[in-house]
Amino acid sequence: MAASAQASASEKAAGPAVSGFTPASLEAQRKLEQHITRYPSSERIRADHRFLTAQPHVAGTARDRELAEWTAAEWRKAGLEDVRILEHEVLLPYATEVSVEMTAPKPWRATLREEPIAGDEDTETDAGLTYHAYSASGDVSGEVVYAGSGNPADYDWLASHGVDVKGKIALVRYSVPYSYRGFKALTAQRRGAAAIIIYSDPADDGYGKGKVYPEGPWGPESHIQRGGIVYDFMVPGDPLTPGWASVPGARRIPAAEAISLPTIISVPMSYKEARVILEALRGPETPRAWKGGLPITYRAGAGPATVRVRVRNDDKVRPIWTVTGKITGSAEPDRWVVLGNHRDAWVYGGVDPSSGSASMMELARTLGAQAKDGMRPKRTIVFASWDAEEWTLTSSSEWGEQYEQELREKAVAYVNVDSSASGPNFTATAVPALNRFIAEAANAVMDPATNVPITDAWKTRGTKERGALPSGAGDDLVNNRLGSGSDYTVFLNFVGLPIVDMSFDGPYGVYHSVYDNHQWVSRIGDPGFRYHTAMTRLWGVMATRLANADLLPLDYRPYAERVSEFLNEVERRWPERRFDVARAANARFAAAAAGAASRGAAALAKNDRAALSAVNTSLMGAERGLLEMQGLPGRPWYRHQIYAPKPTYAPEVLPGVAEAIEARDAPRVAEQEQKLAAALDRAAAALRGERGRGTVNR
Ligand SMILES: [Zn+2]
Repeated sequence: MAASAQASASEKAAGPAVSGFTPASLEAQRKLEQHITRYPSSERIRADHRFLTAQPHVAGTARDRELAEWTAAEWRKAGLEDVRILEHEVLLPYATEVSVEMTAPKPWRATLREEPIAGDEDTETDAGLTYHAYSASGDVSGEVVYAGSGNPADYDWLASHGVDVKGKIALVRYSVPYSYRGFKALTAQRRGAAAIIIYSDPADDGYGKGKVYPEGPWGPESHIQRGGIVYDFMVPGDPLTPGWASVPGARRIPAAEAISLPTIISVPMSYKEARVILEALRGPETPRAWKGGLPITYRAGAGPATVRVRVRNDDKVRPIWTVTGKITGSAEPDRWVVLGNHRDAWVYGGVDPSSGSASMMELARTLGAQAKDGMRPKRTIVFASWDAEEWTLTSSSEWGEQYEQELREKAVAYVNVDSSASGPNFTATAVPALNRFIAEAANAVMDPATNVPITDAWKTRGTKERGALPSGAGDDLVNNRLGSGSDYTVFLNFVGLPIVDMSFDGPYGVYHSVYDNHQWVSRIGDPGFRYHTAMTRLWGVMATRLANADLLPLDYRPYAERVSEFLNEVERRWPERRFDVARAANARFAAAAAGAASRGAAALAKNDRAALSAVNTSLMGAERGLLEMQGLPGRPWYRHQIYAPKPTYAPEVLPGVAEAIEARDAPRVAEQEQKLAAALDRAAAALRGERGRGTVNR
């Protein structure tokens, strides 16, 4: 009694709650976290960031390779073990020609170039052609139709106003809330457009939001958002090796059979140049929602503006490079905590992804220094620097496919940071099993601007001041609606690991443009690199807690609550049906989650190592159990039964059931409900410690 009262008093004195540790190991963990608070240097992070962003480093280029070698060398210096550069050969077509020419009502040729800005020399060097990765090659001409955000409903409006898009050039805007550009391309392709031009309207990420770069964070008039348009919501990774790794000599399918490759030509454009075309359109005035921030009357066309669009790609298979390194665990080396960030950028990648790469480099130094000082984690921490994320989440998908079996046996969780800092607003997206873990970690790290815990700063800042990108905005600290758009996808949807994806966000209108560079970050996004440093600390606290906790900080009780909410949602979309089979399975999942939590608490209280090990193995099996190995109908790569991305990249919950409801296919709804119930039962069996497909080998 006295001892435990003392322990809890000293815990209170030492800091806020941390789940999963015995008093003795918590004391060691707190020491470690003091080091994680002190060690990271914002000056080193700034220097690394300057180096990472010194030149454009598109995936597969010489500079990308140099940065892979630099990353490996720095990790070795930091003390990481087994550092290696793994090569995959993937379809990575570079554009060799991109042009947009107006032929009527007057001849005009778009430059498709971003203008230099005085005082920012990075904008003065030629950053190459601006293009959409995986656009089809071709040469087409046609009248232009302005189709708003390019959603299916927008084309329906056009059709109802007598505007036909077939064989024409669709002009659409990037939109807020963010909708994946590949969805716009797919929609235009399905509607029979000959090509699509996607431009950045000033209302979305330019002067309509606030001051533009170099005065402020938003996009100047000539900024162009590059990006992939690949249909990676069907299958991510190399389009020619769907579901298996692109190791040298791997079997490849013909490009014509690759379901993720678009067949439409697509080109990105600035608002400065799109305005010329928009001004030349006649036809009906558009709905209010389509009107952007340009001082013009937005009309739909078709024509009389007529343009010729040409795109030529080299269609080459190129090498890309994943860098991995480890800090081998002292007690459980065959349990892995995997941390990842992508390295490749569309140009300099100031925020996306070099902010995250700089934070991760400093984390490697921080944890490497601890290991050298004898503070080695109990479980192994694996670092990964991914490549070609910007193309189709490529190297993480290939690596996940290659090491699928090993990951399924060994990995505890995957922690992703793509962009670490474009501002001060903490956002996290994760599976519900990690909600409490994330809240506790964010509570242990100070917000640099206010010097209160990140969780408190998050409460006072709320959700204002968001960028133009998808984020965890919502009423909860952790967003449990997972879509896609970064490297966690393979780990969640293909391997079945608990994942978290996090960043510090702010107003940010230069995404995938030449202006997303060192100066933008150091002057506007994160002066002093304080949030980069906070991310290093937070990531370090998370990594070491996952690696050192006696009881793994995975709690499936909130997961069952979320599934129950998701079931309510799908029921509302098919009110004539009750999802009793899935509900009953979810009740068993909830009971098993509660059982695992109480077994874990009892084992922790007694510091019963055998019991803790058994509960940890159960907890690791639960997420695996939620996979259905045949995958979702039509997209077998996506196996998770609770989460999948929609073509918009928006999250889709209970995807098998939800898509069957969308198709109004009653037998398929019933069949998918059975699969969902079976997945929940596998997760429940894992949580009860029963061996089966969901369970993990010891
Ligand atoms: Zn990124």
